[in-house]
Amino acid sequence: MPLQDITARIAKAEAAAGRPAGSVKLIAVSKVQPDERVEAVLQQGHRCFGENRVQEAAGKWPAFMERYEGIDLHLIGPLQTNKARQAMELFHAIHSVDRPKLAKTIARLAQEMGKCPDLFVQVNTGEEEQKAGVMPAEADSFIAECKALDLPVRGLMCIPPVDEEPSLHFALLAKIAERNGLSDLSMGMSDDFEKAIALGATHVRIGSAIFGERVKPQG
Ligand SMILES: *Cc1c(COP(=O)(O)O)cnc(C)c1O
Repeated sequence: MPLQDITARIAKAEAAAGRPAGSVKLIAVSKVQPDERVEAVLQQGHRCFGENRVQEAAGKWPAFMERYEGIDLHLIGPLQTNKARQAMELFHAIHSVDRPKLAKTIARLAQEMGKCPDLFVQVNTGEEEQKAGVMPAEADSFIAECKALDLPVRGLMCIPPVDEEPSLHFALLAKIAERNGLSDLSMGMSDDFEKAIALGATHVRIGSAIFGERVKPQG
């Protein structure tokens, strides 16, 4: 689907929810997409992208950043502590802060580097065993721990279980953010971003609806 169709759908969903135009940021998820598809979206003037692997992003984004001004790159996949420094150098936001060890590592590196990306705490709203994210019952204390480390936590992120109504998960995430005084919500993907916007998403992460089906699985 062309980029402008997605941005039009976002604008419509913002209006339907009574939210200001432009209050939702579109993160175009370019993982595993061929460079020419990414380039086509860059040429249309879009600058905000999401990747879920540090290694893959490090292999393709520095070259794009040399050629296009103002790229805003978001890490939306799990982060290992040994890749934290590289991630903090490359990304402007990290959406997958989900455990004390990682939070402490980021805090230490932020001191050392004198800068830190915007951070989102990932919440495992479906309490799925295989999925990253802090459990909902532990979210408040983990967020407090991050704040005590002086981390720039802007909001929360979730990936609802594939076989459940996403709105319940979006509503839960919004509730946890509200009671912790966090403004930003990273939620909503190709199939459910309008529902996420209705429930307060500030960042939607859309891949296949923009770029087409991913050509190869990640492995
Ligand atoms: C791949 C991915 C997306 C985008 O998924 P689509 O269904 O292609 O829109 C969003 N968020 C995360 C965390 C992802 O890994």
